[in-house]
Amino acid sequence: MTERSLANDLIARFSRVTWITLTSYAVLVIAVFTIVSEISLSRSLTQSATVIESLLGLYADPGGERTTVAPGMLADQLVGMGARFVITRTAASAEGGRSVYFLSSTMPAKRIETLGPNATADEVHAEIARAVVERGRWRYKLHHVRSGEFDIFVAGTRETSLFAIAGLAVAAVILLPLTAFAARRSTKSAVTQSLRPVERVRSETQAIGPQDLSRRVGEPTGVAEITEIAASINRLVSRVEASHRALDAFTADASHELRTPLTHMRAEAQWALDGHRSDEELRDALAAIGDEVERTSKLVEDLLLLARGDNRALAVERRSFEVGPIVQEIVEIAEAMATGREITVRNQIEGAIHAKGDPDHTRQVLLNLAANAVRHSERGGVAITAARHDRSISIAIADEGDGIPPEDLPRIFDRFYRVEKSRSRAHGGVGLGLAIAKMLTEIQGGTIDVDSEVGRGSTFTVRLPAASPSRPT
Ligand code: ADP
Repeated sequence: MTERSLANDLIARFSRVTWITLTSYAVLVIAVFTIVSEISLSRSLTQSATVIESLLGLYADPGGERTTVAPGMLADQLVGMGARFVITRTAASAEGGRSVYFLSSTMPAKRIETLGPNATADEVHAEIARAVVERGRWRYKLHHVRSGEFDIFVAGTRETSLFAIAGLAVAAVILLPLTAFAARRSTKSAVTQSLRPVERVRSETQAIGPQDLSRRVGEPTGVAEITEIAASINRLVSRVEASHRALDAFTADASHELRTPLTHMRAEAQWALDGHRSDEELRDALAAIGDEVERTSKLVEDLLLLARGDNRALAVERRSFEVGPIVQEIVEIAEAMATGREITVRNQIEGAIHAKGDPDHTRQVLLNLAANAVRHSERGGVAITAARHDRSISIAIADEGDGIPPEDLPRIFDRFYRVEKSRSRAHGGVGLGLAIAKMLTEIQGGTIDVDSEVGRGSTFTVRLPAASPSRPT
């Protein structure tokens, strides 16, 4: 599915809003104008009716009684006012019949022939309204006032306001599309301008390739939200760059560690095959090759273990197990390793402490730590203690050996990291022991940390989840 661009989406939405706003505004203006003109027409008709009513009063006799009104004369008087009006009176004729007069400024005194002499005021009203409607339903407004024996009808034309309304409507029809078109053009340029930082962040992000992980997206962008996105992208790239570097370093270290024994083995083999070697010399060469093969196999095994841990391909048990017996096994192995040196290894665990996790992985972790403690001690004691906390248990392996310089402490769990490369090689380690211990602890949901002082010794503490007390094994 092809998605439309953010710019086009915004332009379409803004244009729709502009159309709706402009149309509503035009309709509102026309409606308000119509209402106002209707009100002012009403008021002017009411005023006219009042004037005519007062003029009718002039025809009353001094005693206050209305006598005869000469419709023609009154009409003449009112013609000058220019109003369109009608006065009707049902007057008694000389023969006793009644006449309905229809007076207007343009049509002076005239009888409405269609009405009989006995027509009532309501019939006259209806007849006049019909006559007005005939001349155009919307063009005239009729106002009716009853004044004694007279009925006054004032008709006002809506022609002027209808003309203005029509003008407004035509203007709206012509101007609306033009205005909307102009609004769309300015919306387009405004949206393009607003989205410029987004476009910049997009192109700068695209420029960050695998070979170019040191590049970053420029900040600030000028728009707070977009700067936040740029900062998030930069943080992400920094993390990717860091792990890329770590991977590069790991690959370089691993290749180096694998190449060194291979070179050694090749040299031994060449030496053994070169000329006549005694049986003893050949045995020595084969033994050296055997040692390297063993070391290399161990290295490959360690690397595979780490790779399986990274890929979550390592089976991890989650069961309750007692720490004491495992520690006892480790103590025995460590004592064997320390044979010939003034080192004592002690299991100082009191009581039964149960952890929840994988006993085999825990054994491997403790073995690596105990082996390091013995390897890095000339003399003194190595003590293993354990404690139960709220939700976890801790096992501490403390030695009185060399200790680790503070500047190395943050990196000793890194793969292939060795404090003193030459010294550690002599000890036989390649710098994977602690990395494996950390990985195996963490996959059990635990943590590992170190406290060390040069010349005083080191304490490595492993924390694992505690077994729930209700189900000890
Ligand atoms: P290695 O297999 O080379 O011992 P590790 O990952 O086990 O590698 O340890 C990394 C480094 O940490 C070692 O080179 C060593 O210098 C230091 N180290 C580890 N444990 C101790 C300890 N108990 N005392 C002093 N240094 C230690």
